[in-house]
This record gives sequence, structure tokens and C-alpha cells, in this order.
Amino acid sequence: METATSGNFGIMKEMKAHSSFQMRPLAHKPVSLAVIGGGAAGLFAAAAAARRSLGCLVLERKARPGAKMLMTANGRCNFTKDVSAERMLADIGEPVASFVRPALTAFPPSRIAAAFRLCGVKTRRMPDGRLFPASGQAATVVHALGDLLRDEGVPIAVNCPVVGVQPVKRGFIVATRHFTIWAENVLVATGGVSFPKTGSVGDGQEFARALGHRIVPYRAGLTGFETNDPRVRSRSGLRFEDGSAKILDGAGRVLHSCRGEVDCEPWGVGGAAVYNCQRLTARHSGPFSVVVEFDGQRLTLANPAPRPVKESIVTIGGVSTDDVDPDTMESRKVPGLFFAGEVLDIDGPTGGYNLSLAFATAHLAVRTCFARTKSGASVVRQLRHMV
Ligand SMILES: Cc1cc2nc3c(=O)[nH]c(=O)nc-3n(C[C@H](O)[C@H](O)[C@H](O)COP(=O)(O)OP(=O)(O)OC[C@H]3O[C@@H](n4cnc5c(N)ncnc54)[C@H](O)[C@@H]3O)c2cc1C
Repeated sequence: METATSGNFGIMKEMKAHSSFQMRPLAHKPVSLAVIGGGAAGLFAAAAAARRSLGCLVLERKARPGAKMLMTANGRCNFTKDVSAERMLADIGEPVASFVRPALTAFPPSRIAAAFRLCGVKTRRMPDGRLFPASGQAATVVHALGDLLRDEGVPIAVNCPVVGVQPVKRGFIVATRHFTIWAENVLVATGGVSFPKTGSVGDGQEFARALGHRIVPYRAGLTGFETNDPRVRSRSGLRFEDGSAKILDGAGRVLHSCRGEVDCEPWGVGGAAVYNCQRLTARHSGPFSVVVEFDGQRLTLANPAPRPVKESIVTIGGVSTDDVDPDTMESRKVPGLFFAGEVLDIDGPTGGYNLSLAFATAHLAVRTCFARTKSGASVVRQLRHMV
């Protein structure tokens, strides 16, 4: 009968026989970067870390990473827009633009598109500049990131919700239900609270709150307005490409107008023109009205109610941008803690802006982490020496 010792010895012999295996003394050391959330921002961050050989792992709540990305643009994934960073910032508008300016300037849409091309994603440009994978499948984008992480050997723990983050003397302890990780830096990329079935349920905001960050209340972003107007109900299910929507303040002044698609739904009006106006009303204080035009109709809605945040394309609210350094994406309260993507109180219009924000903020966080780590610093020194 084989004893435990002889059994272990057998395994050792097998391991030694493996040509690439070498016995090294084991050391307990932290991972350079723990990424919480394997969505758009988290996967992109891990890919950026891998490209820099920054030790990293991803902890993802759901059984598969990238669930929300798979839903984007009806499964086609409008992953960015072929415009300049300046144009994108102007379209995003204040107060978000000032905060995301360093991230988008450092990693503009052209670099986002180049990064995906480098991962083998062939792209298709729409006449208005929106970029999609040429396959027409969001899965192409998710798989490209997944393949890169596989090739670089980046561990991804799935079915693995993080339940707490605690700063310690050197870094953080990141707790999951079954084990803990010691990390020098942590990137919270857990998303907003819309479409919670995809895994984004607001955990990251709770970790941030527990660590002293302010959380801006959640509101729906990029969603429709509810109305019982018979002109909408009688057209329920119809889509009008050449519609428009505009926001008027209490004095009747036009604050914003948008041309584009208007959809008549059983609950009210939706479509890109309405969504882009709705997003701005979510940050507007005071009374307002929305004028929606479609199919020769002109609808005026006074202070209309948006659809619930759970059904919205983006979450407005989340970790306050006042508590995060826009030049690094690092918390102003807890050094070594970073945020990226929709967990932050940032949002943009339809057209690839929200994924662009997730990618650009993730990239900036990783760039900062890399520059901070000792190995990163020495590589930078070496590179400087070489140039
Ligand atoms: C229907 C729909 C269509 C959209 N279409 C577009 C589009 O075409 N173009 C565009 O630019 N944007 C689009 N968006 C918005 C875009 O998808 C999001 O802004 C983007 O996915 C945000 O990225 P994120 O990484 O911050 O969050 P997410 O992509 O939501 O990822 C967060 C991840 O964190 C994980 N997580 C959460 N809590 C924990 C925890 N405790 N432990 C571990 N993991 C956790 C989640 O499971 C999830 O995988 C769309 C959104 C929706 C809902």
C-alpha cells in the first residue's frame, strides 16, 4: 500500500521529471495588482497589466467574465468611436469631462481601436465613426481579451465574488467567500448597478463607502421616459429614425437637443435621441421638460420619469469623482486603491463612449500602478537607460 509520503514523493519525482520544473524556495508575497471585476474595465486593465508584465489577477463574481459587454449594442459591441479625445470630451460634457480628460487624453479612441486591432479584432467603422468588431459579434471583443489573458497566463477566478477589501501594512487583503488574496494594489472595476444579472450589483461602491469614499446616489442614465400619451401607445413597437428630442429648462430655454432615433415603447419613449437627453436631465437640478418629435408628432413631457436604473444602459452616480485623482485613478483616501469604469460617477452618451471610458480609466489606473511598482520602476529606469 502506498503511504502518503511515498505518494507525495511520487508526485515530486514526476514534477522533477518535467523539463521546465525547477524547485524554488516558496515565498509568500503579494500580487502587484488585484482586479475586482472581470467586465470591460477589469479585463482591459488585466490585459494592460499583462502587456507590462505587471503581476495581476482578476476576481469575477459571475461564472463568465464580460457578461455586460456581450449585451452591448444588441450583441454587436460598439466599443469606441473614431473621433478625437477632444471631440469625445465635448460630447460627454461637464461635470464628467473634466474628470476623465487625463484618462481619455492618455488613451484616446485611436489607441483603444489600435489595442483591439493588436489583439486581432478586425473592426468595422460606421459612417458616423462608431466602431464595432467586423464580425458583428460582441463575443469577438470579449474573446480577444480572454485569449490575451490566457496567452499571458493571467489568472481569472470566476464564480468568485469579492466580499471585502481591507488595507494592511503593505497593500490590501482582498476577501472572497472562500479565500483571501494579498495585493499591493487593488483596482475596483465592479461596474454600476444597471442590469444586475450581468453581475454589476454595486459591491464596489460598498467597498469604497466602507473605506471612507462618498457615494453619489444612483440614477438611471441612457434610458427612456415614461408616458401614457396615446400617440405613443398607438405606435408602440415602432421605431422612427429621424426623430428628435430636446431638453428645456423651467424658463423654456433649450438646454440640449439631439436628432436621431425615437422608439415608441409600451411604457413611453426611448431610442438614442431620447436616451442622450435623458442622461443630461439626470444631472440637471430644477424643473425641466422634454420635447420629443417623431412621425410628425410633437410631444411635450414635463419632468418626465425615467425608466428604472436597473434597466438603464449606464448608471449615473457611484464613487464620487471628488475622492479619486483624475490623473491616476487612485483614491484620494486610500493609497494603492484604484477605480475604473462605471463604478465611478462617470457616464457618456450612446455611441461607444461608455466602453471607451471604461477602457481609458482602466488603462490609466494600470499605467499608474506599473510606474509605482518596484519592478515597473526598474524597467522604466532600464528603458530610459536604453534610449
Ligand atoms: C444593454 C446595454 C447596452 C450597452 N451598449 C453599449 C455600447 O454599445 N457601447 C458602449 O460604449 N457602452 C455600452 N453599454 C455600457 C457599457 O456596457 C458599460 O458602461 C461597461 O460595460 C462598464 O464597464 P465596467 O467594467 O465598469 O462594468 P461591467 O462591464 O458591468 O463589469 C463589472 C464586472 O464586475 C463584476 N463584479 C461585480 N461585483 C463583483 C464582486 N463583488 N466581485 C467580483 N466581481 C464583481 C461583475 O460581475 C461584472 O463582470 C451598454 C450597456 C447595456 C446595459
